Amino acid sequence: MGLEVIRRKIKYGVMPFFILLGILCCPVTLNATEIAEKSVSENAIVVVIDPGHGGKNAGAIYGGYIEKTLTFNTAKAMKEELEKYDGIKVYLTRDSDVDMELGERAAFAKEVDADLLLSLHYNMSELHKLFGTECWISAFGRCYAVGRDFSLIELEMLTKEGLYDRGIKTRLNSRGTDYYGIIRSSTANDIPAVIIEHCHLDQVNDKSYIDHNTWPQKYGVLDATAVARYFGLKSEQLGVDYSNEVHEATPVPNERMSPDDTPPEWCEAEVMEVDEQTGMIRGKLSAYDPDSRILYYTVSFNDGKTFGEYYRYEPDENGDVYFEVQAPNKKRTRLVVAALNMYGGLAQSELLYVGRLTYLLDEEAVEETIVTTRQTADLVEESENPDVDDVPDEDTEPSKRMKSASYFVLWVLVFGLPILAIGAVWKCFIDKKRRKTKENCKN
Ligand SMILES: [Zn+2]
Repeated sequence: MGLEVIRRKIKYGVMPFFILLGILCCPVTLNATEIAEKSVSENAIVVVIDPGHGGKNAGAIYGGYIEKTLTFNTAKAMKEELEKYDGIKVYLTRDSDVDMELGERAAFAKEVDADLLLSLHYNMSELHKLFGTECWISAFGRCYAVGRDFSLIELEMLTKEGLYDRGIKTRLNSRGTDYYGIIRSSTANDIPAVIIEHCHLDQVNDKSYIDHNTWPQKYGVLDATAVARYFGLKSEQLGVDYSNEVHEATPVPNERMSPDDTPPEWCEAEVMEVDEQTGMIRGKLSAYDPDSRILYYTVSFNDGKTFGEYYRYEPDENGDVYFEVQAPNKKRTRLVVAALNMYGGLAQSELLYVGRLTYLLDEEAVEETIVTTRQTADLVEESENPDVDDVPDEDTEPSKRMKSASYFVLWVLVFGLPILAIGAVWKCFIDKKRRKTKENCKN
């Protein structure tokens, strides 16, 4: 009994001591955790992902796609993937559909002391001719070098998917600083920023690289992997280790890396073959630009006033690009081939004379096949080889004129005659009524 009392005394006498010790130690323990966390985050790579546009600023809208939604879904997928890597802290500039100034986005990156700011976008062009993927970076110092090194990896991955490489570009405003606000503001804070234009929403060549569900996710994972490769990260969860990956280290330039504002130096083209049955013209071209890569070529049939669609400029080992275009039907043809560099600078070839080509259009060819099965060979031969070289175009299609004449007669028969008949009946009716009124008046 006495022993029990002593035990209790010890128990309750010691308890306050432990409680006091606990209270004293607790803040110490918390502080230690905070410090540990801070040192981890201080060593961690900080990446800020900026879903382009948002709120009232929808960005590009085309064919059911809204850029701000696509960039947001891509950014979410990118963050999720990037957080699977060790030693990285990832932030989004916006986590809902809100308006945000470009300066605000850059200021946020500054606030969290970002190592890299990536602004995600989807592209669209005025004439819907451009296609492919590109990165925009600062034209200055370390931000240029880091931006370029990251973009090399990013574009390597995007083009591996089949997208056309539009290159890594800088752009300046009239004051000679970076044109894009988010890059300009970030560069002012010495934070490298890259605008990634994943693909074009409005062009047939990029059609298979965009949808609502698969591609935004896919781009997000791809962008995250490019970041992991650039910083040499590893992920136990994903079972990948990029810490030994060697990639290019661009030297920090001392001067401004200005965009190319001159067109290609020259563009030469020649016609190699003309198919008179189909109107197809085959030829080759080569172009040269000492400042930037040639990106597209295109063809004009009106002496360079307007050009048709754009094609990839991918020269063979001799530096030649082969082209194939269809000449306008039944017109004297001369064409101009043009080459465009990465910045849209355009150089034209000399005029190439082809002469007048007369060929069957696809639908005429189909019609013709039907005729062949019904009519005699002579008749078909005549219509297939009309000698129209010096005859004005409007006189070249007698069968069409015959057709429209018979349509007119039919139209008169179907609509004109009943209208005339109704008119005659109506006139009789009115005359009768007038006569009746007059008689009534007399009466
Ligand atoms: Zn955009």
